[in-house]
Parts: sequence; structure tokens; C-alpha cells
Amino acid sequence: MSERYDFVSIEARAKSKWAPEMYRVSEDRQARKFYCLEMFPYPSGALHMGHVRNYSIGDVLARFLRMNGYNVLHPMGWDAFGLPAENAAIQHGTHPARWTWSNIAHMKSQFGMLGTSYDWDREVTTARPDYYRWTQWLFLLMYGRGLAYRKRAAVNWCPKCATVLANEQVEGGLCWRCDSAVGLRELEQWFLKITDYADRLLSDLDRLPGWPERVRTMQENWIGRSEGVELVFPVAGTGEPIPVFTTRHDTVYGATYLVLSPEHPLVDILLARHPDPETAAFVRRARATDPSRRTDEDLVKEGIATGARALNAFSGEEIPIWIGNYVVHAYGTGAVMGVPAHDQRDLEFAGKYGLPVRVVIQDPGHTLTASTLREAYVEAGTMVASGPFTGLPNSEGKERIADFAEKHGLGQRRVNYRLRDWLISRQRYWGVPIPVVYCDHCGIVPVPEDQLPVVLPLDIEVAPGPSPLAQLDAFINTHCPSCGGAARREVDTMDTFIDSSWYFLRYCSPGDQERAFDPRKADYWMPVDQYTGGIEHAILHLLYSRFITKVVHDAGLLKVDEPFVRLLTQGMVVHHGAKMSKSKGNVVSPDLLVKQYGADALRLLILFAAPPEKDLEWSEAGVEGASRFLQRVFRVVTAHAEEEDGPGSSLDGAAEELVRFVHRTVKRVSEDVGRRRSFNTAISALMELTNAIYRYRDQVPRPHRAATTEALEKLVLMLAPFAPHLGEELWERLGNKGSVHLQAWPGYDQHLAASGDLIVVVQVDGKVRERLTVPAELGMVEVQVLAMASERVQAHLAGKTIQRVVAVPGKLINIVTS
Ligand SMILES: [Zn+2]
Ligand SMILES: [Zn+2]
Repeated sequence: MSERYDFVSIEARAKSKWAPEMYRVSEDRQARKFYCLEMFPYPSGALHMGHVRNYSIGDVLARFLRMNGYNVLHPMGWDAFGLPAENAAIQHGTHPARWTWSNIAHMKSQFGMLGTSYDWDREVTTARPDYYRWTQWLFLLMYGRGLAYRKRAAVNWCPKCATVLANEQVEGGLCWRCDSAVGLRELEQWFLKITDYADRLLSDLDRLPGWPERVRTMQENWIGRSEGVELVFPVAGTGEPIPVFTTRHDTVYGATYLVLSPEHPLVDILLARHPDPETAAFVRRARATDPSRRTDEDLVKEGIATGARALNAFSGEEIPIWIGNYVVHAYGTGAVMGVPAHDQRDLEFAGKYGLPVRVVIQDPGHTLTASTLREAYVEAGTMVASGPFTGLPNSEGKERIADFAEKHGLGQRRVNYRLRDWLISRQRYWGVPIPVVYCDHCGIVPVPEDQLPVVLPLDIEVAPGPSPLAQLDAFINTHCPSCGGAARREVDTMDTFIDSSWYFLRYCSPGDQERAFDPRKADYWMPVDQYTGGIEHAILHLLYSRFITKVVHDAGLLKVDEPFVRLLTQGMVVHHGAKMSKSKGNVVSPDLLVKQYGADALRLLILFAAPPEKDLEWSEAGVEGASRFLQRVFRVVTAHAEEEDGPGSSLDGAAEELVRFVHRTVKRVSEDVGRRRSFNTAISALMELTNAIYRYRDQVPRPHRAATTEALEKLVLMLAPFAPHLGEELWERLGNKGSVHLQAWPGYDQHLAASGDLIVVVQVDGKVRERLTVPAELGMVEVQVLAMASERVQAHLAGKTIQRVVAVPGKLINIVTS
């Protein structure tokens, strides 16, 4: 009777063999580097299944690439500041630091349990002074470059979290963390000028072909660039200018009213001029509406007339000024022109309040009549009732009106962005203190670099309500670094998204006491070659990281200006069709599964059950299946290892077929993992190979020894990244020395593996720079990613901007630069 697959002792034995230095790396300019990074976790207490998925993907890649000869940087750390620690501290009467450190200890042991291959020497913890000192340095760098400023602003306020939220952290009017309704507050706040980088953050998306299209589109929409004209409408009689940004200036003759946001500075002036309790009450109500809700489709659009009028300098008409609850002050200029005939929202508003509708773009198909217009006409057409512009196609009229406005001082062409500056002040305790001092004499004084870190005091008691820092005199009272007089410290801490916007740089030289990162080391490791994490970070974290990387690049501290070459956004792990959550009661514990089936089976299942980008429906049957497969591999290897050594039968047709099968499988798995990041198909290839080995052994009385050994060794080598513990055990049982994870990835013979491969020529500006051998079934988008990733191609793209890419499927890719 064959031996049982005892994963408990196998996994314990393997771990005991793994020395910490196995995955330690340093800069080696002879070797090809690969920076393999997964988004570091928030130490919430325990790894969940989403983490297991994220980190299994990264670990398989790291192990695979190491075996392929890459110098692989694969670090891990902790995004350790944040509100949950404070809330937990209040709830359980502990200290946020103690809660955080003990969670980190537990989660680190879970990483050990899963058998992930990190260089733990590079561990970073954002809540430790040796890290946040450099986060403060980064703030000073931004301040010094004019990219950090303080301003009084109406900001999103979560009453439950008792803190300000960035626009990015308000989702449908609710706090991203606790789902409370978000309100508004006026506070002095620190902002980072990400808007200065809006254009580059947008245009450089084109340089990221290794990112999912979906994420690039989300960033593009978030940045929201639009070209238009800022037209000025003076208030009739008094002349105060009301600037209005529009991309439809071709419809200006159809503007029959203006609408101000409730926060528009003119609102109070007009109210003082035409006092009206009903209008005042409307304004109060509208101002209480959360700005992020105002653009919701389902918001009931309401308005009220101010009684004042403004001059439409084009039509020469005076048009009424309204206040509307759907106009957002932060976007554009906080005022919009109402063109009911050519904007659906305006048409509904005009219909509700009996405002005039005027057609100024005529449908070439059939004539539009204002009185019968049911739906706004937004297509192209001919301009009518538009003074000297009548008769022009509206596309041409657009340019002419913009010219006219600029010439006569009625307006200016402008590019507008949806992106706002990044609000980073948080009225919370468990975060990085903003390194700034306020002096009555000198004003805002940044804390000098050599006085960093501004240490977050730990001897506090966390209680509900305002941040303890704001009440800690010993922290607040200080001396002005500039004049030496009495001064006060800033008591706000930074948004924790700053901590995570540069941690990938710190990993390059984590112990550096002199600076945030060593540029020579960062230039070796950066950019991150593969970044893996959840789609929920498509905007916030990834946009901030790109921004900070560009700032550091502009400061001359880093060669690259984009942090992540290739991005993999893994899908969620769902159970009974829903995301796992405590409230739904559908959570599955990784610890329990590891106890029942072993870490290897869990890792294998999580990579096998779905392609990495797709959601994965959890099932118990799946993990049982994975465990059964590992048992099958275990049994066939041990059976072979126990058989008496000797040549076995001759190399007949069946053995030759097995050899061919092995080479085909090596080729498939190499390409699935290496190029396509298609782990599930790689695993099914390993399952098919296992079946083929069983079939062969059943066919012949005494299997050909060398052919079977080769098949099994290659199977074990390829299985090792997925099931690192069993891989280690079986490698030893096959009589080999040394860790399986330090072996070379198996090669294959082209002829034996032959299948329909194609050779794709890659040109840069028409000159051949690379020939890629790719499987025929690979799509051109993937081929393009491979082409861009080629070092030879990269060498010829250095310093150039890609204009476009021309592809002849299956044959050629030509990258055209400017
Ligand atoms: Zn909240
Ligand atoms: Zn001073």
C-alpha cells in the first residue's frame, strides 16, 4: 500500500529547510532584474481569502522568475497607519500601536504558513519612525517644490470617522470606509497639487500598455480632461463677471439662463441685494447636500431664481440667474450656462421652471422646433439663430466663437480637469504628523529636514471624538525652527495614501538612514516590473503612486517617472455569489483551510479556479479537487522513487510519446506563467501531464527509467512555484540535493515541443529590432505587451514618445515614435 500524502509533516519539513537568506537579493548588474510586487496589506488582524489570492499570484511569479534566472526583488511590508487601529483601540481599550504590532506579528506568521517567498530583510512598516520620517521628508520635498499648500476649504467630513475625506474617498455620497453619509465642513487644510501633473498623468497612460485597459480608462475619466472656453457673463447693472466653463460654446446663442452653485461667492451678494427668505432657505438646504451627490443621475434637480440677470454678450440678451442644487462648486467655475435645446439636463430644468428653449443647432435630418422638443439635440448640425455664425457647421462655429470670444475679451480657451488637488489633512491620531510649525512671527514654518522625524507621541489615550494630538500640549507647544520663539505644531496627520504612494521606493534600500531611498539602488530595481493588487485601487493608490513617482523624478532623484510597468488586477474571491464579508456570513478562513487541506492545496486551488483577473467563486469541492491532484502527484513520484533502479523497458513508442508530452507541457507552462500570467491553464497542463505519466506507467510492465524520471522531475520543478512545500519534498524524494526553489526552470526541445509557433517581427520606426517567437493562439494585444517588454525594443524607445503602434496580426508590430 502506498504512502499517504501527509501535508502536515511535508509542509513543516519543507519550511524547516528554508533558510531566510534563500530569497535575499542585492543589485547584480550582470543579472536581469525583476521587481515583483504585490500591494502590501493593511494589518487588520488576519489575512483573508482576497489576500491569499493576491499573494499566491505574486509568489508563483516570483518563484517562477527566480528559477528562470532573474534577480527577483520580492518584498513585503505593512501599510500600518490608519483609522481601524484607532477604532479598534477605542473598542478594546488598547493602544493603536499595540493593536497594529500584534496584528502584524500574526499576519506575518500567516505568510509563513502559506509559504510565500519574501526577502523579509526588506520589510517596511509605514507606522514606524524609520519609515514615516521619510514620508515627512517627502512632504517637505513637495512643499519645497510648491506642491504642498494650505487653504481654508469646504471639505468632505465623515461624522463617524470624525475626519476629512479626499474626494476620491467619497463614494456615492458615502464614506469609503464606514458608509456613513458625508457632510461638509470649513477647515484649514493641506493639499498636494496633483492638478499640476494632470496632463502628464493623463498622457503617460499611453506608455502603460501592460496595464488593463479598464484601469487606464478609469484613471482617464477620473482626471477628466476637457477642452472648452471660459465665457464671461457680467451681472446686468452691476457688472460682476460670472465665468462659465463650457465645451459647447457653439450653443452660446441658445443660453437662456445661468445657474450658480449654492456655494458660489455671488450667491450671498445677490441675496443681500434681493433678500428673500425662500431663496435663503433653498441655499441653506442645497449647501447641506454633499457635493459628490450633486452629479448623481437620480438627484432631483431643483433651482430657484435670484431675481438678478446677466448679459449674454453674444445674443445681447439679459438672461435670468438661478441657483441650482446640481451645480458643483469645485468643478469648473461653479456656474453653468443653461442651453435647454442642446443639453438634456438643462431641457428638464427649463421644462420644470418654464424657462425659454431656443434651438441654435439644427438637425440636418429633420427640423427641430423648440416648442415640441422632447429630447435635447446633442449631435452635430448647422448653426441657426446665432448672429454672424448662422449657417456654419457647428464644429467650425466652435472655433470661430472661441476666436471671437478671445478677440473681444468675452472669454478664453481653457482646458479643464475633473481632477482636484489632493486633500491630505486628517484630524486623526494614528498617522504621520505633518512636519509643519505655526509661528505668530514667521507664519508657516516647515520642520527642517535634520529635525525629522516629528515623532508621533505614543503615550496617549485614544478616546472617541477629536484626535488626542489636538489636546496634547506637550506635542503642540514647540519652538519655531526659524526665529526660536514659541510656536504650535500642526496637529493633523497625513492621509495614509501618502504612506503607500512611495513604499516601493523604500524597498530598494529599506535600511538607509541617510535618505528615503538610495537613487543608485532605486535606479537598478525600479520600475516595478509586475504589480499585483485589487481593482479597488485603480484610482486612488495607483494615481497617487504615479504622481509621487513623477515628483521624485522631477526632483532628479529617480530615473523612471512611471512606477509600474505591468499591472495585474486580480478579481475578488466570492462565495455564494457575493464578496466575502462578516455581515453576509460567507467568510472562509484561510487558516482553517490550511489545517484541513494544507497551504499547497489552497494556493493551487486559488490559482486554478479562475483566470487571475476574474472573480473566483469559492467552493469546498474545488479545494478537495486540488488536494486530490497533489495526492496523485505525490503517489506517482513516491511509487517511482521506491521502484528498483535500472533501465526499465526500452525507449519505445509509448516512452517517446511521453517525452514529447513532457516537452510540450514545459513549453506551455513556461508561456502561460511567463508571458500570459495564465496560471489556471498552466495548472491544467500540469494535471494533463500527471495523467499522461499515469497512463504510460499503466501501459508498460516496467517503465523506461530515464524517461519517467525526466517526466517526474520536470513535473515537480514546474509544480514547485504553485505548491512550494510538496515540490520541495518530492524533489528530495527523487534523489536530488538542494532546494527545488534554487533550481533552474526546466528547458524544452523546440522540435519535441513543436506546435504552431509564429515569429513576429518588431520594428521601431520601421527598423527591425526584435523577433519574437509566440504561440499562434496569442492575441495581438498580448504580443504588443511582449514587444514593449523586450529589452532590445526598450533600448530603442528610450527617450522617445510613442505616437502609435501598427500591427499586422501574426506577422509584424511597428512602433512609431515622434
Ligand atoms: Zn467614515
Ligand atoms: Zn518664528
